[in-house]
Amino acid sequence: MKKHNFGAGPSILPQEVFEQSAQACLEYNGIGLSILEISHRSKEFTDVLDESISLIKELLNVPDDYSILFLQGGANMQFNMVPYNILNEDETANFVETGVWATRAEAESRLYGKTKIIASSKESNFNYIPKNFEVDEDALYLHLTSNNTIYGTEFFEDKQYPIPVICDMSSDIFSRPVDVSKYHIIYAGAQKNLGCAGITLVIIKNEWLGRAKRPKSKMWDYEIFAKNNSLYNTPPVFAIYTCLLTLRWLKKLGGLAEMEKRNIAKSTLLYNEIDRNLLFKGHAVEEDRSRMNINFITTNPEDEVAFLEFVKPYNIHGIKGYRTVGGFRASCYNALPIESVQVLVEAMQAFEKSKNA
Ligand SMILES: *Cc1c(COP(=O)(O)O)cnc(C)c1O
Repeated sequence: MKKHNFGAGPSILPQEVFEQSAQACLEYNGIGLSILEISHRSKEFTDVLDESISLIKELLNVPDDYSILFLQGGANMQFNMVPYNILNEDETANFVETGVWATRAEAESRLYGKTKIIASSKESNFNYIPKNFEVDEDALYLHLTSNNTIYGTEFFEDKQYPIPVICDMSSDIFSRPVDVSKYHIIYAGAQKNLGCAGITLVIIKNEWLGRAKRPKSKMWDYEIFAKNNSLYNTPPVFAIYTCLLTLRWLKKLGGLAEMEKRNIAKSTLLYNEIDRNLLFKGHAVEEDRSRMNINFITTNPEDEVAFLEFVKPYNIHGIKGYRTVGGFRASCYNALPIESVQVLVEAMQAFEKSKNA
């Protein structure tokens, strides 16, 4: 029996994506070959790539003046690739520091230009999203992390700022409709909501291709990948195929508005129980609670180990919290069914009963 997988990433994907990708490893589309052994320049694969790009444009309603790139190296590589491609030495990037990923993005940017952290929630272990911060109007861009996977806080609004915005959406992309026009660059590692590990999605406004003036290595240049339809070198064919299968699933279920509805239903169910059950307490402040990563602790520290033990018969996987936050983190990505959340809620209620007995 498959487990209820609350892991933070690589994480659960739709069951049909597992089945179809497994089948494609044996034989892809009846062509007598596995997806793992076909050329990335074959018609079979370029069709996969083209359909993936067109589904991303359709689902996210991407305006025409943007390019969709598939790159490798994860979001961590984008922490470096973004400033390398965009930020000139004498220019400044602003950062809102909402967690470890934002901190890493800022540190990499310092290699190429000037940086400034204009707001941070570090002093309270990143349990909220700073608001009403002022951006430097003469900075080149503002960098945000839309969902803070480790701490369970999330920006839900695609706000207009006086300068261009770059956003790391690794852990909440495709979880709700996004106004792409509010961002100059969106990037996301695939392994949370989009597909398997090994591929990174970058959506970039064309006017920023080739922006920074430094001489660039071809493998690190957005413009090279844009001109070559992400086929400058061999891309991870199988990882892109898992993205395509997930995108088809998203479209079939009704797209991102439907996803958002489901994600609200799942997260509300779990947060309600966290708030009701006196044995548990949430980490993030209420207004900034993530729908994707739900962090909570036990009110009595001794219960922490006991609860992890208690959930074992419930077939629950992956709820142990990140080491800097402790407690529990239930990641409720798109593919997690509400039934899994119901099982976790049942376990929390049974744990409460076992204490009162
Ligand atoms: C997981 C995650 C990362 C790190 O992604 P890698 O693909 O491991 O580099 C960065 N940012 C966010 C928001 C994440 O959730």
